[in-house]
Amino acid sequence: MTGTAVIRGVVAVEADVFAIRRQARELGAALGLEEPDQIRLAAALSEVGRRLLARHGPLTVDFAVVPDEPNGGEAATERPLLSITVTGIGPADDALVGELGPTRQLVDRFAVRRNGASTVITMGRWLPERVAAISPTEIEEIAQQIAGLTAGTPLEELAEHNRQLLATLQQVEHQRDELLRLNVELEETNRGVVALYKELSDELEATNRGVVALYAELDQRNDEIRAASEAKSRFLANASHELRAPVTAIIGLCQLLKAPTSVPLTEEQAGQLGLIESSARGLLGLVNQLLDLAKAESGRLEATPVATDLKAVFDSLRGMLKAVPRSESTELVIVDPEGVPTLHTDPVLLTRVLLNLLTNGLKFTPDGEVRLTAQYSPRERTVSLAVSDTGIGIPPEEHERIFEEFHQVRHALHAGVVGTGLGLPYTRRLVQILGGRISLESTPGHGSTFTVTLPVSDPARSPAGNITGPLRVLIADDDDAFRTAAAMILRAAGDTVIEAADGEAALAAIQQEPPDAVLLDLRLAGVDGFAVLAALSSNETLSHIPVVVLTAYPSDVADQPALGRATTVMDKAQTTLDSLPRIVREAAQTHLGETHLRERP
Ligand code: ADP
Repeated sequence: MTGTAVIRGVVAVEADVFAIRRQARELGAALGLEEPDQIRLAAALSEVGRRLLARHGPLTVDFAVVPDEPNGGEAATERPLLSITVTGIGPADDALVGELGPTRQLVDRFAVRRNGASTVITMGRWLPERVAAISPTEIEEIAQQIAGLTAGTPLEELAEHNRQLLATLQQVEHQRDELLRLNVELEETNRGVVALYKELSDELEATNRGVVALYAELDQRNDEIRAASEAKSRFLANASHELRAPVTAIIGLCQLLKAPTSVPLTEEQAGQLGLIESSARGLLGLVNQLLDLAKAESGRLEATPVATDLKAVFDSLRGMLKAVPRSESTELVIVDPEGVPTLHTDPVLLTRVLLNLLTNGLKFTPDGEVRLTAQYSPRERTVSLAVSDTGIGIPPEEHERIFEEFHQVRHALHAGVVGTGLGLPYTRRLVQILGGRISLESTPGHGSTFTVTLPVSDPARSPAGNITGPLRVLIADDDDAFRTAAAMILRAAGDTVIEAADGEAALAAIQQEPPDAVLLDLRLAGVDGFAVLAALSSNETLSHIPVVVLTAYPSDVADQPALGRATTVMDKAQTTLDSLPRIVREAAQTHLGETHLRERP
């Protein structure tokens, strides 16, 4: 809408102030302002009129309906504005502008424009949006009616003032009542919330008590289970020892009877003696297995880790397995390990584990292949040893149970295969002693794969404590002065330092020989620090290297996820260089403490 000028009035004497006040109110009412808003507008205008008249003499007052305009930082609204412009004012001093200050509160828009010798004051109040739809002609008609209004007698004006005051008072009272009502409501709600909170706390407390009781019971059960398990191991060990002596004696006596120096036996006697001896040997095997298991379970069996070449273990397995009976149509394939680092483990226990699994494979594979393979995972620093066969397989519901003592699968295909049901529980215990885990995948009729995963280094011997030895550290920073100084400090601490002035050189050096830690500036020309981090993260062999990010701009690293990997941040401006050896060690330490145990000399 364009502006529609409505009324012009002149304020020459005191009575005119009353007249324009009344016009402002009536016009506001005609254009849809609520009564309180009418009063505010009228009061603002009469206040401005009264003060200016006293100072500057006659004034001109123009009423208009205009579109709203932006005001200061505030955007314009969609609503039209009933605007009042007061002109005819001489130069306004700051004191006057200050005096008019409180008037601003009564209107939506207020501006004092000083232009040398003259001053223009505009004020406005938003009208309902529907006013925008009223045609200028209609507005003018409304204005005509109001233009004729003059001030009443002072008594009438006083009465009107009083009426307005009363109306305002009533409104204030109404608002106060409303406020009181809301307060009561709020209080009630509050009480409700407090009650609910208490109920919830009580419930939580009760649940908590339940959980504590449950834990206590669980602890007690655990103790009982532990005691039972210890008793079982003790029994197994004692019984085995007791059994072994007589069985060994029986075997010895059989051999004595068979010796050429003994009285010759009849063929029948020799046959029976053979049976006695083979039964006794079977019994001895079982007793030995029981004893092994009891020892492993009791915690008396400890691993003696040494640097172990997996290839040598595989070779000895090939030799041992020659004696193990198997079907003629089953092939044993032991694939030499490739790209697997030297393991820090107990080769004797590891050989027993693999021997058990391979023997089982051969036992339960009437036709096909039993295969042993090794695979290294640099990310996890583990080696997976898989024994897979194409044999009869194990039904899913038995996958956990076959690791229980004496459990054997009851199935037609498993029938007729001799065994004790002690091999797998023993194997699993050994794997645990070696710090690894064992898993099984199997499909009946198609075969099974047992996978043993072992850490490359022995966790018990890896540096869980502080790293004190020298490190190989790479510094990537294009700030020559900083890099040189940092390198000097680290070298003084005994470290080997490789320097790189840009990201490309850093990556090349890291790939050539992975360092123990990297100090990395983020703002590098070309391949920047973020790109170096991304390259390290995406490379399985390099992703474990601890990185200390160097930055003089902490805002660069405010967005931690952008760093994309576990890193330490060092603020160049805040940290003194002499703390560098400690920071590097802490970073390497944290990383080692997490998942990636690095072999140290
Ligand atoms: P044993 O072989 O002396 O019976 P184990 O504890 O080694 O005892 O194995 C338990 C059972 O698990 C075996 O009796 C057999 O039913 C099942 N089993 C183990 N290995 C295999 C395999 N490779 N294929 C099929 N079944 C297997």
